[in-house]
Amino acid sequence: MADKIKNERPLADRVRSIKQSDIRRYSAICAAMGGVNLSQGVCDQPAPDAVKRAAKQAIDEDKAPYTNLRGIIELRTAIAKKMREFNGIDCDPETQIVVNVGSAGSFACAALATLNPGDECIVFSPFYSYHVNLLKLFGVKITFVDLSPPDWSYDPAALAAACNERTRMILICTPANPSGKVFSEAELRDIARLAAKQNAWIATDEIYEYITYGKEHVSVGRFPEAKDRTITMSGASKTYAVTGWRIGYCVGPSEVIDRIAVVSDLLYICAPAPLQHGIVAGMALPDRYYQQMQADYLTKREMTVDALRDIGFTPFVPDGSYYMLASFEEGRWADATAATESILQRVGVATVPGSAFYRNPADGQNQLRFCYAKKMADLEEACSRLRKLADRPVAAMGAVC
Ligand code: PLP
Repeated sequence: MADKIKNERPLADRVRSIKQSDIRRYSAICAAMGGVNLSQGVCDQPAPDAVKRAAKQAIDEDKAPYTNLRGIIELRTAIAKKMREFNGIDCDPETQIVVNVGSAGSFACAALATLNPGDECIVFSPFYSYHVNLLKLFGVKITFVDLSPPDWSYDPAALAAACNERTRMILICTPANPSGKVFSEAELRDIARLAAKQNAWIATDEIYEYITYGKEHVSVGRFPEAKDRTITMSGASKTYAVTGWRIGYCVGPSEVIDRIAVVSDLLYICAPAPLQHGIVAGMALPDRYYQQMQADYLTKREMTVDALRDIGFTPFVPDGSYYMLASFEEGRWADATAATESILQRVGVATVPGSAFYRNPADGQNQLRFCYAKKMADLEEACSRLRKLADRPVAAMGAVC
């Protein structure tokens, strides 16, 4: 009876349609069985010493009070330098940058500052589920445009058809989670042209900007035709392996940044103060830090590709990020959820069903996502566990467990 009453308590409509992926559930099962977790993009590697030292020093020096609502000026100055040198975008640290609680926090604030309920936003599928869930939370109507494997290209005519006078934003993720797509300059110019035609915003999530494999990362915000309508979002989580520190930022025209700063203040007040100081030290690291990180991820990508091919998967080798979607032969498992659960039970490796990332879950029903941002020893262990799946012939695997 008590349960019944509890269940009947009303919830806000805005949370009813939100479905979280099973990543956390699979992670918990995986941890309980002592397995290797390739499901969550937690970036399970040590942060650079300089970053940790600077954050500890800031704590010792009591750099604890709320910061400026746009973040400490030292960090905004470092971000402006990086945006100029790495992204080719000039921005004023006083008026065109806000430090947020993660780049996910940047997107939440940017969407609240620019989109009304009922407005339309274009999202490429497969997508990062936080983007889609936040847009749903805010009552924004999503128009999906498909990316097709293996190269994750989109049909320009489909994008043009999706863009209409109700389109208020085109959302890009480059390099993308989960596909690893790195948008080309030609694609970004096409997107910029369509956004200009409808006077729409471009929001671009570039959190994996330093993790590319031979393909150049291009920021759409550097094109003169896009500069006044682009909100570029990034952060420290992936670049310095500090996903739990929650330091991100966004950059854009001062009018919209001013409103994003107000929203950010209301939601979070500020990002963690001492950790902002840690990231200032991170942003001063030399080029070789980023080169080494890329080289390490390339090695891990190749290890994962080899293991997946050995067990009969077809990996869609990513051009960027540290995720890989890979397909399995139809009939090997009933669907992506059955495959995820079977692999977790049989060899103790957690993955994510591909169906979680598509507007039409059927598109990912024979795909799994593997995250290879792991310590080398853990990734080796995961690969050797995965290879045990090849011990039994494919036809005999059926829908095990
Ligand atoms: N954007 C994408 C595409 C991601 O994959 C993730 C994390 O997995 C985030 C944003 C979250 O970044 P942050 O930790 O800066 O909020």
